Amino acid sequence: MAGLLSLVIPVYNEADSLEPLVAEIDESLRAAGLEYEIVFVDDGSSDGSFAVMQRLAAPRGDIRIVKLRRNFGKAAALSHGFAECRGDYVVTMDGDRQDDPAEIPRLIAPLDDGYDLVSGWKQSRQDPLNKTLPSRLFNWTVRRTTGIPLHDFNCGLKSYRREVVDTIYVYGEQHRYIPVVAAQAGFRVTEEKVSHRRRTAGRSKYGWQRYLRGYLDLMTVLFLGRYQHRPQHLFGGIGTLLILIGILVELYLTVDKLIFGHPIGQRPLLLLGALAIIVGVQLLSLGLIGELIANSRARGGPDQAQVARIVEGGTAALVLEAGAANLGSTTPAAGTSVPAAAAADSVTAAAGSVPAAAEGAPAGAAPGVTDRQ
Ligand code: UDP
Ligand code: MG
Repeated sequence: MAGLLSLVIPVYNEADSLEPLVAEIDESLRAAGLEYEIVFVDDGSSDGSFAVMQRLAAPRGDIRIVKLRRNFGKAAALSHGFAECRGDYVVTMDGDRQDDPAEIPRLIAPLDDGYDLVSGWKQSRQDPLNKTLPSRLFNWTVRRTTGIPLHDFNCGLKSYRREVVDTIYVYGEQHRYIPVVAAQAGFRVTEEKVSHRRRTAGRSKYGWQRYLRGYLDLMTVLFLGRYQHRPQHLFGGIGTLLILIGILVELYLTVDKLIFGHPIGQRPLLLLGALAIIVGVQLLSLGLIGELIANSRARGGPDQAQVARIVEGGTAALVLEAGAANLGSTTPAAGTSVPAAAAADSVTAAAGSVPAAAEGAPAGAAPGVTDRQ
């Protein structure tokens, strides 16, 4: 792996863990011969974490600190780290020492095989049962609803190619869905087993509320991924169905009254039909308002985050690259949207119908080819 690696570490009250964490990182990454920087994001700590970070950063140029004004949550902290880091590759890890820096070289290896994001999969998880059981349910639900076959969406240890962190945006508590958001954006996501350690200092920042919030965030992420460019297809679809059902019900009652002379004033069906029409019209209107928002955003021009690369014709380097791509297409599992490792690996996903870098050879842009950062 060539290029600078940025370690982005969100920190909220982890004062006692930071010094040993940096020592471990130095040991593991120097041994692996990696060039790296550490970007701490102090997410409003009140236990002196910032002072510890300052002390650690003082003697060296490869530690940077982003201090937030108050606690904004892990997703916001990660987003700030992504914005400030300078690496060609990025690794996120928790600041509580539950993630092991020795895993980093293995975690970044698939990035050289054409993957854009590698999510850690915690083995023999060192957390209490009241955390691991709901977590299994959470991962199962996310797998089923998103179709992305990862085992452990919420692992703090993940590696990214630069363009992923430049493209995706997470906020609130959406850090749990980073692999989903990345796959929805067309990036290729895979997972790698990593070890997990018991918390030795400080406390977990998340209680039972994480599950309620996680469920609400899942709906947001699913909605944005599928319908942000076409909200009326969701709301208008359900609304139209309800209106049709309501009209049929009321027609039936009208016929019953006018032709068969039955009284209909006391029939529950009357109310049900009216309700279906009213709610249907409301949903349809909601969809139209959603389209107004989508339309005014679309007027700003096409979303540049959707573009993987631009190819300018007429360069010699392009001929070479095209030759390589042609060669690849005669060999199974190369030059297609799924690289060799992915074909053998059942946990690989490129969500949606647009696999990123489907034209092959994602690494190393040649003259005439601009990879979008
Ligand atoms: N964290 C953060 N802001 C928050 C909550 C957590 O930056 O509002 C950091 C925290 O300091 C740690 C990481 O996110 O480095 C994971 O948090 P935690 O260990 O509490 O989560 P758990 O391991 O219990 O899921
Ligand atoms: Mg933790």
